[in-house]
Amino acid sequence: MATASATSKSELLARDLAHLIHPLHAPALHKSAHVWIRGEGARLIDADGKEYIDGLSGLWNVNVGHGRKELAQAAYDQMATLGYCSGYTGSSNLAAIELAERLSSWTYPSINRFFFTSGGGESSDSSFKTARYYWRLKGKPGKTKVISRQWGYHGVTLAAMSATGIASYWPMFEPRVPGFVHIPSPYPYRYQAAAGVSQGVAAANELEKAIQKEGADTVAMFLAEPVQGAGGVIPPQDDYFPRIREICTQYDVLLVSDEVITGFGRTGTKFGLEHWGVEPDMIQFAKGITSGYFPLGGIGISDQIAKTMDGADPVWMHAYTYSSHPVGCRVALANMDILEREGLVSEAKRKGKKLLDGLRSAVASHPHVGDVRGLGMMCAVEIVKDKATKEEYPAADKVGARVHEETQKRGLFSRHRGDVFLLAPPLVTTDAEIDRVVNIMGESVPAVLGS
Ligand code: PMP
Repeated sequence: MATASATSKSELLARDLAHLIHPLHAPALHKSAHVWIRGEGARLIDADGKEYIDGLSGLWNVNVGHGRKELAQAAYDQMATLGYCSGYTGSSNLAAIELAERLSSWTYPSINRFFFTSGGGESSDSSFKTARYYWRLKGKPGKTKVISRQWGYHGVTLAAMSATGIASYWPMFEPRVPGFVHIPSPYPYRYQAAAGVSQGVAAANELEKAIQKEGADTVAMFLAEPVQGAGGVIPPQDDYFPRIREICTQYDVLLVSDEVITGFGRTGTKFGLEHWGVEPDMIQFAKGITSGYFPLGGIGISDQIAKTMDGADPVWMHAYTYSSHPVGCRVALANMDILEREGLVSEAKRKGKKLLDGLRSAVASHPHVGDVRGLGMMCAVEIVKDKATKEEYPAADKVGARVHEETQKRGLFSRHRGDVFLLAPPLVTTDAEIDRVVNIMGESVPAVLGS
């Protein structure tokens, strides 16, 4: 296997800077980047030989951990047999058929039909277009708008970016696609509810207000992650999604669950809304379906939407070259075998609790830790300047980035959104590694902010 010495790491970085454009390209920040060479379980090994715990499972996706030869074998076997074929009408393949069939028993009972993409952003676009198509078929062509939430992340194609509610993604690419509306996040730590109603119901009622303001006859769908991920790991109140479901049903607005992170076990259930007994009309997925070993995503639609589409006359003119990619579908099936065989969905629940409890005892009492939260193997530590008022540090203080620096010195690599430190290690992270993550956080926060 390839290794690289410390000197060759600087050479590699020079070559990288000369020729690569990175996601969220920022050459100045990239000068001290890692060049990952190898992964094993929950560990990543940098070109300078240093080992890190992969605190975010790659990008929330390597659920079964690194170095799974079984997934490589599944890809090899499929590539050797049939590396690619079209998925367009008139063509199908064994792996895609098997995967769609299997997903119908993994996802919500009413979601039984699937379309495959190459990732999350394409899945967002696919659900926007499917929602519009559905309402046209239903004789309501005016229902086109998408409502989503502040701090939601749904990808960065122009339409997905317009649904994404993290405002820093917008300014350099305005104008956004029209017809995308944002409501506040339920954010239990920060959402201010009016008196007389619970915080979760008040936050859900923001959707009703927005639908009434826009006009129900103009709104196609509401898009929400069961637990907001990139926006800061924000699990909602228990009564939030049940009330959201009621509102969507009442106003004929499709409830679309963005399960790109929460799908495939991450939160301790197969899919996220299971926590609250809520069924969506559509789901979006990607990431954990292949644990990142092959780019694959998709949408799942309810029987009601499928029935309408099956009887449709105008063709759903939506397609990707790599829809139903046989290699992606085969890797997904092998990945789901691992998730099932190793009981990783329930492991995510147990280990996530261990991680959250550990973080709470290690950092929650720190004078600048405002909130420690999580659900399953998704946790966040929110750092604030003033714990009483929840005032944030000025962005220029770069507190989150400095904590990230300290964790890396100690062998943990993850991400932060401002001063919210994000953790979502692989579902195979060992108990000892979870203890290590907790200890590193317990040392890194005071290293930046004192004790
Ligand atoms: N939706 C959610 C909830 C995500 O977390 C992401 C990626 N972080 C996306 C969509 C976009 O996925 P991709 O980067 O594969 O386009």
